[in-house]
Amino acid sequence: MIGQGAFSAFQGIKLVKRNINKVKGLVITTQFGTKRSNHYFMTLLIKVPRTSTNSTYSGKYVLILQNIDADLLAMESFKKSLFITLLIFWALAMIIAYVLSRSSMRPILVSWKKQREFSADAAHELRTPITVIQNQMEYLLTKPKQRILDEAASISTTLDEVNQMQTLIKRLLMLSRGDANIIQIQPKSVDLKDWIKRTFNIYQPLAENQHKTLQKNILASGQVIFDPDLMHQALVILLDNALKYTPTGGSIDVLIKRLHGRLIISVSDTGPGIPDKDKRNIFERFYRVDQSRNTKTGGNGLGLAIAKFIVQQHNGKIEVRDNYPHGAVFQISIPITREKRHPKTDKP
Ligand code: ADP
Repeated sequence: MIGQGAFSAFQGIKLVKRNINKVKGLVITTQFGTKRSNHYFMTLLIKVPRTSTNSTYSGKYVLILQNIDADLLAMESFKKSLFITLLIFWALAMIIAYVLSRSSMRPILVSWKKQREFSADAAHELRTPITVIQNQMEYLLTKPKQRILDEAASISTTLDEVNQMQTLIKRLLMLSRGDANIIQIQPKSVDLKDWIKRTFNIYQPLAENQHKTLQKNILASGQVIFDPDLMHQALVILLDNALKYTPTGGSIDVLIKRLHGRLIISVSDTGPGIPDKDKRNIFERFYRVDQSRNTKTGGNGLGLAIAKFIVQQHNGKIEVRDNYPHGAVFQISIPITREKRHPKTDKP
Protein backbone atom coordinates (compact mmCIF):
# COMPACT_ATOMS: atom_id res chain seq x y z
CA MET A 1 0.00 0.00 0.00
CA ILE A 2 1.52 3.28 -1.02
CA GLY A 3 -1.57 5.38 -0.54
CA GLN A 4 -3.55 7.95 -2.47
CA GLY A 5 -0.66 10.34 -2.87
CA ALA A 6 0.98 7.93 -5.29
CA PHE A 7 -1.70 8.33 -7.90
CA SER A 8 -0.44 11.68 -9.10
CA ALA A 9 3.10 10.32 -9.01
CA PHE A 10 2.05 7.44 -11.33
CA GLN A 11 0.57 9.97 -13.71
CA GLY A 12 3.96 11.58 -14.06
CA ILE A 13 5.61 8.40 -15.36
CA LYS A 14 6.98 8.94 -18.85
CA LEU A 15 6.73 6.34 -21.57
CA VAL A 16 10.22 5.30 -22.70
CA LYS A 17 9.68 3.09 -25.70
CA ARG A 18 13.26 1.79 -25.85
CA ASN A 19 12.61 0.07 -22.50
CA ILE A 20 10.07 -2.21 -24.06
CA ASN A 21 10.25 -5.79 -22.76
CA LYS A 22 12.96 -4.80 -20.30
CA VAL A 23 12.74 -5.08 -16.51
CA LYS A 24 13.68 -1.75 -15.00
CA GLY A 25 13.72 -0.14 -11.57
CA LEU A 26 11.58 2.84 -10.74
CA VAL A 27 11.45 5.15 -7.76
CA ILE A 28 8.32 7.10 -7.01
CA THR A 29 8.31 9.85 -4.44
CA THR A 30 5.07 10.56 -2.60
CA GLN A 31 4.32 13.39 -0.25
CA PHE A 32 1.80 13.49 2.61
CA GLY A 33 1.94 16.88 4.24
CA THR A 34 5.58 17.50 4.88
CA LYS A 35 6.51 13.81 4.81
CA ARG A 36 8.17 12.65 1.61
CA SER A 37 8.80 8.99 1.03
CA ASN A 38 10.27 6.92 -1.76
CA HIS A 39 8.65 3.78 -3.13
CA TYR A 40 10.49 1.28 -5.23
CA PHE A 41 9.09 -0.68 -8.14
CA MET A 42 10.20 -3.22 -10.73
CA THR A 43 8.70 -2.29 -14.09
CA LEU A 44 8.12 -4.10 -17.36
CA LEU A 45 6.90 -2.21 -20.41
CA ILE A 46 5.03 -4.31 -22.97
CA LYS A 47 3.06 -3.55 -26.08
CA VAL A 48 -0.28 -5.36 -26.27
CA PRO A 49 -0.86 -6.61 -29.86
CA ARG A 50 -3.72 -5.07 -31.80
CA THR A 51 -5.18 -8.54 -32.20
CA SER A 52 -5.78 -8.77 -28.43
CA THR A 53 -9.41 -9.36 -27.53
CA ASN A 54 -9.09 -6.95 -24.60
CA SER A 55 -10.22 -3.75 -26.26
CA THR A 56 -8.95 -1.59 -23.31
CA TYR A 57 -5.29 -2.57 -23.94
CA SER A 58 -5.13 -3.77 -27.57
CA GLY A 59 -2.51 -1.86 -29.54
CA LYS A 60 -1.40 0.09 -26.43
CA TYR A 61 1.70 0.22 -24.27
CA VAL A 62 1.19 -1.25 -20.79
CA LEU A 63 3.60 -0.64 -17.91
CA ILE A 64 3.42 -3.43 -15.33
CA LEU A 65 4.65 -2.29 -11.90
CA GLN A 66 5.53 -4.44 -8.93
CA ASN A 67 6.11 -2.74 -5.59
CA ILE A 68 9.33 -4.04 -4.01
CA ASP A 69 9.35 -1.87 -0.86
CA ALA A 70 8.73 -4.92 1.35
CA ASP A 71 11.51 -6.92 -0.36
CA LEU A 72 13.96 -4.04 0.01
CA LEU A 73 12.97 -3.62 3.64
CA ALA A 74 13.45 -7.35 4.26
CA MET A 75 16.84 -7.22 2.51
CA GLU A 76 17.88 -4.22 4.58
CA SER A 77 16.92 -5.87 7.86
CA PHE A 78 18.65 -9.09 6.72
CA LYS A 79 21.83 -7.08 6.01
CA LYS A 80 21.57 -5.44 9.43
CA SER A 81 21.09 -8.71 11.30
CA LEU A 82 23.90 -10.31 9.27
CA PHE A 83 26.19 -7.46 10.21
CA ILE A 84 25.19 -7.62 13.91
CA THR A 85 25.59 -11.43 13.95
CA LEU A 86 29.01 -11.14 12.33
CA LEU A 87 29.96 -8.48 14.85
CA ILE A 88 28.79 -10.64 17.79
CA PHE A 89 30.64 -13.71 16.49
CA TRP A 90 33.76 -11.68 15.82
CA ALA A 91 33.63 -10.30 19.38
CA LEU A 92 32.98 -13.80 20.76
CA ALA A 93 35.86 -15.23 18.73
CA MET A 94 38.14 -12.49 20.05
CA ILE A 95 37.05 -13.10 23.66
CA ILE A 96 37.47 -16.89 23.34
CA ALA A 97 40.87 -16.47 21.67
CA TYR A 98 41.93 -14.09 24.44
CA VAL A 99 40.73 -16.38 27.24
CA LEU A 100 42.29 -19.47 25.63
CA SER A 101 45.59 -17.79 24.92
CA ARG A 102 45.70 -16.40 28.46
CA SER A 103 44.99 -19.76 30.05
CA SER A 104 47.50 -21.54 27.84
CA MET A 105 50.09 -18.82 28.44
CA ARG A 106 49.59 -18.75 32.22
CA PRO A 107 51.67 -21.87 33.06
CA ILE A 108 54.41 -20.65 30.70
CA LEU A 109 54.41 -17.23 32.35
CA VAL A 110 54.37 -18.74 35.85
CA SER A 111 57.27 -21.07 35.06
CA TRP A 112 59.17 -18.24 33.34
CA LYS A 113 58.64 -16.03 36.41
CA LYS A 114 59.76 -18.85 38.72
CA GLN A 115 62.82 -19.49 36.58
CA ARG A 116 63.72 -15.81 36.68
CA GLU A 117 63.29 -15.65 40.47
CA PHE A 118 65.27 -18.86 40.84
CA SER A 119 68.26 -17.47 38.89
CA ALA A 120 68.09 -14.15 40.76
CA ASP A 121 67.95 -15.90 44.17
CA ALA A 122 70.71 -18.32 43.20
CA ALA A 123 72.95 -15.43 42.11
CA HIS A 124 72.16 -13.61 45.36
CA GLU A 125 72.96 -16.69 47.49
CA LEU A 126 76.25 -17.26 45.64
CA ARG A 127 77.30 -13.65 45.99
CA THR A 128 77.43 -13.78 49.81
CA PRO A 129 80.01 -16.60 50.19
CA ILE A 130 82.04 -15.26 47.27
CA THR A 131 82.25 -11.85 48.95
CA VAL A 132 83.34 -13.45 52.23
CA ILE A 133 85.99 -15.54 50.44
CA GLN A 134 87.22 -12.49 48.55
CA ASN A 135 87.51 -10.44 51.76
CA GLN A 136 89.38 -13.23 53.56
CA MET A 137 91.77 -13.69 50.63
CA GLU A 138 92.43 -9.97 50.40
CA TYR A 139 93.05 -9.90 54.15
CA LEU A 140 95.50 -12.83 53.89
CA LEU A 141 97.36 -11.05 51.10
CA THR A 142 98.05 -8.18 53.47
CA LYS A 143 99.88 -10.64 55.80
CA PRO A 144 102.41 -12.35 53.54
CA LYS A 145 104.81 -13.05 56.40
CA GLN A 146 102.27 -14.75 58.71
CA ARG A 147 102.25 -18.52 59.22
CA ILE A 148 99.22 -20.59 58.21
CA LEU A 149 98.67 -21.43 61.88
CA ASP A 150 98.42 -17.73 62.76
CA GLU A 151 95.73 -17.19 60.15
CA ALA A 152 93.84 -20.43 60.79
CA ALA A 153 90.66 -18.53 61.65
CA SER A 154 90.55 -16.77 58.27
CA ILE A 155 91.36 -19.95 56.40
CA SER A 156 88.71 -21.86 58.29
CA THR A 157 86.09 -19.15 57.54
CA THR A 158 87.02 -19.35 53.88
CA LEU A 159 86.71 -23.13 53.91
CA ASP A 160 83.30 -22.91 55.60
CA GLU A 161 82.11 -20.60 52.87
CA VAL A 162 83.53 -22.87 50.17
CA ASN A 163 81.70 -25.83 51.72
CA GLN A 164 78.47 -23.85 51.86
CA MET A 165 78.91 -22.83 48.25
CA GLN A 166 79.51 -26.43 47.26
CA THR A 167 76.30 -27.53 48.98
CA LEU A 168 74.42 -24.67 47.37
CA ILE A 169 75.75 -25.47 43.89
CA LYS A 170 74.92 -29.18 44.30
CA ARG A 171 71.38 -28.29 45.36
CA LEU A 172 70.93 -25.79 42.54
CA LEU A 173 72.15 -28.34 40.05
CA MET A 174 69.79 -30.97 41.39
CA LEU A 175 66.79 -28.66 41.20
CA SER A 176 67.60 -27.40 37.72
CA ARG A 177 68.09 -30.98 36.50
CA GLY A 178 64.72 -31.75 38.03
CA ASP A 179 63.22 -28.78 36.17
CA ALA A 180 64.69 -30.12 32.95
CA ASN A 181 63.02 -33.49 33.70
CA ILE A 182 66.36 -35.26 33.87
CA ILE A 183 65.72 -38.45 35.81
CA GLN A 184 67.91 -38.56 38.87
CA ILE A 185 66.29 -41.33 40.86
CA GLN A 186 67.96 -44.76 40.88
CA PRO A 187 65.72 -47.08 42.89
CA LYS A 188 67.14 -50.29 44.25
CA SER A 189 66.38 -52.84 46.94
CA VAL A 190 67.48 -51.39 50.27
CA ASP A 191 67.80 -53.03 53.65
CA LEU A 192 66.00 -50.56 55.88
CA LYS A 193 68.01 -51.27 59.02
CA ASP A 194 71.38 -50.80 57.24
CA TRP A 195 70.12 -47.68 55.54
CA ILE A 196 69.00 -46.06 58.80
CA LYS A 197 72.23 -47.06 60.54
CA ARG A 198 74.24 -45.14 57.94
CA THR A 199 72.45 -41.87 58.81
CA PHE A 200 72.43 -42.42 62.56
CA ASN A 201 76.14 -43.17 62.68
CA ILE A 202 76.70 -39.61 61.46
CA TYR A 203 74.03 -37.80 63.47
CA GLN A 204 74.23 -39.54 66.85
CA PRO A 205 77.69 -38.12 67.69
CA LEU A 206 76.71 -34.74 66.23
CA ALA A 207 73.68 -34.53 68.52
CA GLU A 208 75.71 -35.62 71.53
CA ASN A 209 78.31 -32.95 70.81
CA GLN A 210 75.57 -30.35 70.81
CA HIS A 211 74.01 -31.75 74.00
CA LYS A 212 70.81 -32.75 72.27
CA THR A 213 69.07 -36.11 72.38
CA LEU A 214 68.57 -38.02 69.16
CA GLN A 215 66.19 -40.95 69.57
CA LYS A 216 65.05 -43.45 66.99
CA ASN A 217 61.96 -45.56 66.94
CA ILE A 218 62.31 -47.98 64.06
CA LEU A 219 59.19 -50.06 63.52
CA ALA A 220 60.00 -51.26 60.02
CA SER A 221 62.65 -53.53 58.57
CA GLY A 222 63.31 -55.76 55.57
CA GLN A 223 63.93 -54.84 51.95
CA VAL A 224 62.31 -51.77 50.45
CA ILE A 225 62.75 -50.25 47.00
CA PHE A 226 63.82 -46.62 46.81
CA ASP A 227 66.85 -44.55 45.92
CA PRO A 228 68.99 -44.95 49.07
CA ASP A 229 71.25 -41.95 48.35
CA LEU A 230 68.45 -39.54 47.54
CA MET A 231 66.35 -40.66 50.51
CA HIS A 232 69.43 -40.38 52.72
CA GLN A 233 69.82 -36.82 51.47
CA ALA A 234 66.16 -36.05 52.33
CA LEU A 235 66.51 -37.50 55.84
CA VAL A 236 69.79 -35.60 56.33
CA ILE A 237 68.05 -32.34 55.44
CA LEU A 238 65.34 -32.98 58.04
CA LEU A 239 67.87 -34.02 60.69
CA ASP A 240 70.13 -31.05 59.88
CA ASN A 241 67.22 -28.68 60.34
CA ALA A 242 66.01 -30.42 63.49
CA LEU A 243 69.48 -30.13 65.02
CA LYS A 244 69.89 -26.57 63.80
CA TYR A 245 66.63 -25.30 65.26
CA THR A 246 66.47 -27.38 68.47
CA PRO A 247 68.09 -25.59 71.43
CA THR A 248 70.68 -27.26 73.64
CA GLY A 249 69.06 -29.85 75.90
CA GLY A 250 66.25 -30.42 73.38
CA SER A 251 65.42 -33.70 71.71
CA ILE A 252 64.91 -35.03 68.21
CA ASP A 253 62.87 -38.15 67.55
CA VAL A 254 62.95 -40.19 64.38
CA LEU A 255 60.12 -42.61 63.73
CA ILE A 256 60.18 -45.07 60.84
CA LYS A 257 57.25 -47.38 60.15
CA ARG A 258 55.14 -48.92 57.44
CA LEU A 259 51.53 -47.88 57.08
CA HIS A 260 49.05 -48.98 54.40
CA GLY A 261 51.75 -49.89 51.90
CA ARG A 262 53.76 -46.74 52.56
CA LEU A 263 57.00 -46.07 54.33
CA ILE A 264 56.62 -43.28 56.88
CA ILE A 265 59.65 -41.37 58.11
CA SER A 266 59.01 -38.63 60.63
CA VAL A 267 61.44 -36.31 62.36
CA SER A 268 60.14 -34.39 65.39
CA ASP A 269 62.03 -31.76 67.28
CA THR A 270 61.54 -29.49 70.28
CA GLY A 271 62.61 -26.30 68.52
CA PRO A 272 60.50 -23.20 67.86
CA GLY A 273 58.27 -24.99 65.32
CA ILE A 274 56.91 -23.47 62.11
CA PRO A 275 54.32 -20.67 62.35
CA ASP A 276 51.05 -21.58 60.61
CA LYS A 277 51.43 -18.81 58.04
CA ASP A 278 54.76 -20.26 56.89
CA LYS A 279 53.79 -23.93 56.79
CA ARG A 280 52.62 -23.72 53.17
CA ASN A 281 55.72 -21.91 51.97
CA ILE A 282 58.65 -23.55 53.67
CA PHE A 283 58.95 -26.13 50.87
CA GLU A 284 59.32 -23.32 48.30
CA ARG A 285 62.78 -22.62 46.95
CA PHE A 286 64.73 -20.02 48.92
CA TYR A 287 61.95 -19.55 51.46
CA ARG A 288 63.11 -18.95 55.02
CA VAL A 289 60.88 -18.23 58.00
CA ASP A 290 63.42 -15.71 59.14
CA GLN A 291 64.10 -13.90 55.89
CA SER A 292 67.26 -12.28 57.23
CA ARG A 293 70.21 -14.13 55.80
CA ASN A 294 72.51 -13.20 58.67
CA THR A 295 70.97 -15.46 61.28
CA LYS A 296 73.30 -17.82 63.02
CA THR A 297 71.43 -20.78 61.54
CA GLY A 298 72.67 -19.78 58.08
CA GLY A 299 71.00 -21.79 55.34
CA ASN A 300 69.64 -20.66 52.04
CA GLY A 301 66.13 -22.02 52.07
CA LEU A 302 66.83 -24.80 49.56
CA GLY A 303 66.96 -27.79 51.92
CA LEU A 304 63.25 -28.46 52.20
CA ALA A 305 62.72 -27.73 48.48
CA ILE A 306 65.27 -30.47 47.75
CA ALA A 307 63.65 -32.83 50.28
CA LYS A 308 60.27 -32.22 48.63
CA PHE A 309 61.76 -32.79 45.18
CA ILE A 310 63.32 -36.10 46.29
CA VAL A 311 60.08 -37.26 47.90
CA GLN A 312 58.11 -36.31 44.79
CA GLN A 313 60.55 -38.31 42.67
CA HIS A 314 59.44 -41.27 44.80
CA ASN A 315 55.76 -40.36 44.26
CA GLY A 316 55.51 -39.51 47.93
CA LYS A 317 54.47 -36.61 50.14
CA ILE A 318 56.23 -34.45 52.68
CA GLU A 319 54.29 -32.52 55.31
CA VAL A 320 54.93 -30.43 58.38
CA ARG A 321 52.83 -30.15 61.51
CA ASP A 322 53.23 -28.92 65.07
CA ASN A 323 54.93 -30.97 67.73
CA TYR A 324 53.49 -30.69 71.25
CA PRO A 325 54.09 -28.76 73.43
CA HIS A 326 56.42 -27.10 70.92
CA GLY A 327 58.55 -27.90 67.89
CA ALA A 328 57.93 -29.24 64.41
CA VAL A 329 57.23 -32.68 62.95
CA PHE A 330 58.31 -33.29 59.36
CA GLN A 331 56.82 -36.41 57.85
CA ILE A 332 57.81 -38.15 54.63
CA SER A 333 55.54 -40.82 53.23
CA ILE A 334 56.46 -42.82 50.12
CA PRO A 335 54.74 -45.80 48.54
CA ILE A 336 56.76 -48.98 48.91
CA THR A 337 56.97 -50.95 45.71
CA ARG A 338 58.23 -54.20 47.22
CA GLU A 339 58.44 -55.26 50.82
CA LYS A 340 59.49 -58.17 52.94
CA ARG A 341 58.16 -57.69 56.45
CA HIS A 342 59.98 -58.46 59.60
CA PRO A 343 57.56 -60.67 61.57
CA LYS A 344 58.14 -59.06 64.98
CA THR A 345 58.74 -55.38 64.43
CA ASP A 346 56.62 -54.55 61.39
CA LYS A 347 53.23 -52.95 61.81
CA PRO A 348 50.44 -53.83 59.38
P1 ADP B 1 67.49 -23.58 55.39
O1 ADP B 1 68.70 -23.96 54.64
O2 ADP B 1 67.28 -22.11 55.51
O3 ADP B 1 67.33 -24.30 56.69
P2 ADP B 1 65.25 -25.15 54.53
O4 ADP B 1 64.59 -25.21 53.22
O5 ADP B 1 65.84 -26.40 55.05
O6 ADP B 1 66.33 -24.00 54.40
O7 ADP B 1 64.24 -24.58 55.57
C1 ADP B 1 63.43 -23.47 55.22
C2 ADP B 1 63.04 -22.71 56.46
O8 ADP B 1 62.13 -23.48 57.23
C3 ADP B 1 64.20 -22.44 57.38
O9 ADP B 1 64.84 -21.24 57.04
C4 ADP B 1 63.53 -22.34 58.72
O10 ADP B 1 63.03 -21.02 58.89
C5 ADP B 1 62.35 -23.28 58.61
N1 ADP B 1 62.62 -24.60 59.23
C6 ADP B 1 63.01 -25.73 58.62
N2 ADP B 1 63.09 -26.75 59.48
C7 ADP B 1 62.75 -26.26 60.69
C8 ADP B 1 62.65 -26.83 62.01
N3 ADP B 1 62.90 -28.11 62.23
N4 ADP B 1 62.25 -26.01 63.00
C9 ADP B 1 61.97 -24.71 62.79
N5 ADP B 1 62.05 -24.11 61.58
C10 ADP B 1 62.45 -24.87 60.52
